[in-house]
Amino acid sequence: MLTTRHGGRAPVPGRVPSRRPGHLAAFLLLSCTASGAAADKALPAIAWEGERLRFATTVGRLPCGDSLEYMDRRVDELAAALVQPMKPGEKISYYWLPGRMELSPCPESSDCADGLAVFSRTLFHDHEIVHVLLRDLGRSQTFLYEGMAEAFGRAGGKLAVERTAARSEILRSLSANADPKSISYPLAGLFVRFLLDRHGMTAVKRVYVRARPDTDTSQLRAIFESELGVSLEKTLGLLEDTAPDCYPRQNLCTAGPVAWSDGAWNHELGLSCASPGVLEIVPEALRNEALVEIPEAGAYRLTVSRPSVPVKELVVARCGCRPDLHTVESGSEATLELDEGRYRVLVGRRADDSSADVEPISVTIRAASARPE
Ligand SMILES: [Zn+2]
Repeated sequence: MLTTRHGGRAPVPGRVPSRRPGHLAAFLLLSCTASGAAADKALPAIAWEGERLRFATTVGRLPCGDSLEYMDRRVDELAAALVQPMKPGEKISYYWLPGRMELSPCPESSDCADGLAVFSRTLFHDHEIVHVLLRDLGRSQTFLYEGMAEAFGRAGGKLAVERTAARSEILRSLSANADPKSISYPLAGLFVRFLLDRHGMTAVKRVYVRARPDTDTSQLRAIFESELGVSLEKTLGLLEDTAPDCYPRQNLCTAGPVAWSDGAWNHELGLSCASPGVLEIVPEALRNEALVEIPEAGAYRLTVSRPSVPVKELVVARCGCRPDLHTVESGSEATLELDEGRYRVLVGRRADDSSADVEPISVTIRAASARPE
């Protein structure tokens, strides 16, 4: 079953052990021996294998840092969130095929999932992995099918239309044989998250299974009544009145925050390809982050060591739906007004072979009122 995919934002790194050395060397060797006219038209061979994910690419190298371990772990997290465990020994094959999508079975200019395989131009495609994990439930009505993938994928879901227009927009999208190109994916994600919050995964999955692509809106009304015990109209009214403007992405801020010590928060964030915690989010861009719990609202002073290569971004972003972002110059000190709560401290740079080894960036946060050491 083919499914189109839609772009989203970057995932969050987690704390996992660094890749064992030797994988990349073995992979490069494999790539060399696999080259040739016949191999050019075939899908690339599996180059990395985790507990839940097998990875293959035409790019000629593996993604940096903990990217693959992160993705492997995300499959388990998504399976748990969907209450849809994989069978013992079952693994998803992930084909990273930038520029070579003609090797995939996907329809033109889209990424897709097919059985236990994902074909993608990008890395970390949670959306497609959701489709793979739910494949045994069959193809649901388009808005619910894509909404489930969006609710657990990277986008999260937000009210992409005026609140008062949401009802008519959702009703239009819940019509039989809705064209995936005509629906709002963020709104689909928000709708499914709203249903999950109110009714739970088991009931929503019953609706998902009974609603098929050709199910029309009047049949859906009956399915809502019998499976959720509430009318579609009432659901839409409640959504209009009570749904939040957006739901945070589910893979944000899930790691534990780094503890404060002696009135200061300090953490080193590596930005070399092999640094622990580094993720290659989009090809050629490396990112690393840590979480900080801000104990009370106020002014905080950030000191950031000057790295030997340009840092593309150094951001302090509040966890949650509408992050308030503070961009900080590297090699500088900045004073930020922060609210109480959890923040991501995030650094990123372009991956560049000529600067493969970069010393970690050291970030320190302390209350502006505190005396510097
Ligand atoms: Zn999809």
